[in-house]
Amino acid sequence: DGYKGLSKALSSYKPQELIDMVKRSGLRGRGGAGFPTGVKWDFIPKDPDLTKYLCCNADEGEPGTFKDRELMEKDPHQMIEGIAISSYAIGAKKAYIYIRGELVLAANILNHAISEAYKKGYLGNNILGSGFSLDIYLHRGAGAYICGEETALIESLEGKRGQPRLKPPFPATYGLYGKPTVVNNVETISNIPHIVLKGDAWYSQIGTPKSTGTRIFSVSGHVVRPGNYELPLGTPLREIIYNHAGGLREGRKLKAVIPGGSSTPILTADHIDTPMDFESVAQAGSALGSGGIIVMDDTTCMVHVAKRLMEFYYHESCGKCTPCRIGTKRMLEMLENISAGNGDNENGPFLETLATDMIDASICGLGWSAPNPILSMIWYFGEEFKEHLKGRCRLGVCNIKGQSAGGRVREARITI
Ligand code: SF4
Repeated sequence: DGYKGLSKALSSYKPQELIDMVKRSGLRGRGGAGFPTGVKWDFIPKDPDLTKYLCCNADEGEPGTFKDRELMEKDPHQMIEGIAISSYAIGAKKAYIYIRGELVLAANILNHAISEAYKKGYLGNNILGSGFSLDIYLHRGAGAYICGEETALIESLEGKRGQPRLKPPFPATYGLYGKPTVVNNVETISNIPHIVLKGDAWYSQIGTPKSTGTRIFSVSGHVVRPGNYELPLGTPLREIIYNHAGGLREGRKLKAVIPGGSSTPILTADHIDTPMDFESVAQAGSALGSGGIIVMDDTTCMVHVAKRLMEFYYHESCGKCTPCRIGTKRMLEMLENISAGNGDNENGPFLETLATDMIDASICGLGWSAPNPILSMIWYFGEEFKEHLKGRCRLGVCNIKGQSAGGRVREARITI
């Protein structure tokens, strides 16, 4: 049913009717924050003379999340159709796809698909004779994680250094080139043609009352069949891991799960029956985030994982604000010391204080969320951290000087 949703949208609905339809569908952003999409659209001023922009956020870079890449590579027209409908709804005549620099294959496929859509009259002037015109530009980023933050994405699109803006003003009033702008994630936008074609009532009966529709869960780590699984929101974590992803490797037990991309707090084997919807995962103490599920079995050293994650966030911190720029560095140093058996008893409390300060004082989501998985690992697996302070890694994963090889479990050396 390619482009039938666009045809229906242009011929049967006024822009505000589409916004109301998406509101009723209950669709929430699939990039991480889960903000209601229709509400975001409705923030855009209605003045027809104002220039407005739509940006499709294809800068997927959260470790453990690889769904948008597959959506772009396997079904680019679904996304282009979604961009066209969304642009019509908010009154944008220009749309930008900001795609992660490393996604070369997806960028090539999208470029080809965009030219196909122009040739068929689904983009360009007077689309399908409706009077609505739209141009789409594909812009390749340079591989900075922070450019997935919507205001950093906008800055980067404008040709500036990709750093978040202080908010307010929000992009709905002051976005790209100072004009009202909506930034929507690839998966979010890919839902739009189906909502228009089949109706908001059809869409909202999938999932749970507050988390409607399907979600693409990227499952990675210690499972038999890692991959992307599109399932109704609210599908239990157990079903995703054991039925769809084939369960854990033989003889291994589940130790921990990162449920929504690497910036979300971990869950443990006790949370295996958590329904994977926004509310239930929050109730379990984490967040659904980007839907990237990283499964860790009992060969995983939590200190090692904490250190690896902080290496990533330290590297990706854009440096604009001090709590995050310095905080990620100091947290990494402490975790390196603990992992090497050189930590001291002050490290634990100081890590927690620093993490809390970062969350309180940073200016964007990276600084707010980077400490969360570390705090949760200390919370659930504090004993492992204490053992490292005494110079022992029970799994032999960390390179602790003086620890005998006999104390190590050889198969524990698994790279996540
Ligand atoms: Fe940059 Fe980190 Fe501050 Fe965000 S929190 S603006 S990533 S330094």
